[in-house]
Amino acid sequence: MATLSDERFDVAIIGGGVVGCAVARRFALAGAKIVLLERGTDILSGASKANSAILHTGFDAPPDSLELELVKAGREEYLAIHRDHGLHLVQTGALVCAWTELEAEKLDGIAQQGRSNGVAGLNLLTGAEARTLVPGLAQSLCAAVEVVGEHVIDPWSAPLSYITQAMALGAKVMRSCELLSGRFDGDWELETSQGLVRAGAVVNAAGLFGDVVDDRLGLTPEFSIKPRKGQFVVLDKAARSLVPKIILPVPNEITKGVVICPTAFGNVLVGPTAEEQEDRTRATVETETLEMLKEHGSRLIPALRHVPVTAIYAGLRPATEKKHYRVVSRPEKRAITLGGVRSTGLSAALGLGQHALKLYSEFGVPLAAPNEVPHVQVPNLTETEERDWQRPGHGEIVCHCEMVTRREIEAALTSPLPPGDFGGLRRRTRAGMGRCQGFYCNARLAELTKGHFVEPLAVSGRT
Ligand SMILES: Cc1cc2nc3c(=O)[nH]c(=O)nc-3n(C[C@H](O)[C@H](O)[C@H](O)COP(=O)(O)OP(=O)(O)OC[C@H]3O[C@@H](n4cnc5c(N)ncnc54)[C@H](O)[C@@H]3O)c2cc1C
Repeated sequence: MATLSDERFDVAIIGGGVVGCAVARRFALAGAKIVLLERGTDILSGASKANSAILHTGFDAPPDSLELELVKAGREEYLAIHRDHGLHLVQTGALVCAWTELEAEKLDGIAQQGRSNGVAGLNLLTGAEARTLVPGLAQSLCAAVEVVGEHVIDPWSAPLSYITQAMALGAKVMRSCELLSGRFDGDWELETSQGLVRAGAVVNAAGLFGDVVDDRLGLTPEFSIKPRKGQFVVLDKAARSLVPKIILPVPNEITKGVVICPTAFGNVLVGPTAEEQEDRTRATVETETLEMLKEHGSRLIPALRHVPVTAIYAGLRPATEKKHYRVVSRPEKRAITLGGVRSTGLSAALGLGQHALKLYSEFGVPLAAPNEVPHVQVPNLTETEERDWQRPGHGEIVCHCEMVTRREIEAALTSPLPPGDFGGLRRRTRAGMGRCQGFYCNARLAELTKGHFVEPLAVSGRT
């Protein structure tokens, strides 16, 4: 197989999900020469493309776990950098709601656990007190715990900003590039779908394929991925004023449960479900489940019954046979596996980056941090801050549902990491993500993106 170039990288990261992007940034900031290999046509092709977008505090994370430590570290770093990166934070707070007396008995324990996890801002409320914060909640609410620090973020712009900063520091991103096998003989020789890549160390951040990638690298996998599907309904923006806070259930052993959650883009999500499945790539949506979610949302906040559904989607969590993160370091092979980052990876990603760098420092390969840190800002897509259409000279509006300008689309297409497919364009601009789901704007988007994607946008909407 042909070697792609004579270039040798310090670290090859396998997987361009939120974890891989955050790891790339952290290592690039430390001075490592990075290559990130992503088998999808764009970054965020796996678990990271579909989540609830909550920046967790860790109040309900397993005590004394690595997950708790990294969720807290990741959140703290996000709070420290988000303004510089142009990322926003919707400071919603959350209510853990008890709908039966039995659930209400658990609230004190949940609040105690949260405090001993080092999370501040946990308040026990009566049902009536909780309803003053979210007046639309059903009368049957017994009691709640308020978690002030749970926030909502833009789940796609955050990883985009991490990888863009890594690229500004020289990181190379190879998309449509699948890791096929690897051999370590003092250095890594990685066989990919695009040729050979050489690197001093590897970080496996392959999410739903974490065990497969370990196996391909000749590292005995210490876990098996058991994909866990989560289906969502996205309610129209009319729902947003009814849901000022994240509404959480009292969790059980398996899942955090179905959440009613405002999004940074002004919609409301109801979901996710937690369904075991074999398939690692296909996340289908089922009508009965979506009806169940809609019904669930309307039972808890009755006025939601009248709000139309804008979209439906499903994501797959890279769960394993155990609940905890499956982080493995193999210094003798200079390999780190960041596996089983199941349901808190968006929050913990920056923490996982810090942790991976700490593990790498034990390999005894020194790095020299760059003198300057490049300033990177991604465009704002949230409704809490000014959007491009609200600025002078914005010109043509291409997507009227989400008010996306031609200027924004052109900026995305000429950005350091332009979208590799239409999904990537949607995640970078919100074009086609609104009420009509692209029915009205797809034809114009197809024109504007002509020649940019391997698979051109199929036009089904009105021209
Ligand atoms: C329904 C749902 C709700 C969630 N809600 C939240 C939430 O509110 N807050 C939160 O913090 N977290 C949440 N999460 C969890 C979070 O989304 C995940 O923890 C996170 O996305 C995992 O990221 P990752 O980078 O490890 O994996 P992935 O995103 O799957 O990335 C792995 C990447 O590796 C690539 N890859 C795989 N094999 C290869 C190969 N051989 N060669 C090259 N590339 C390869 C894949 O294409 C993929 O892009 C949720 C997840 C789901 C599914």
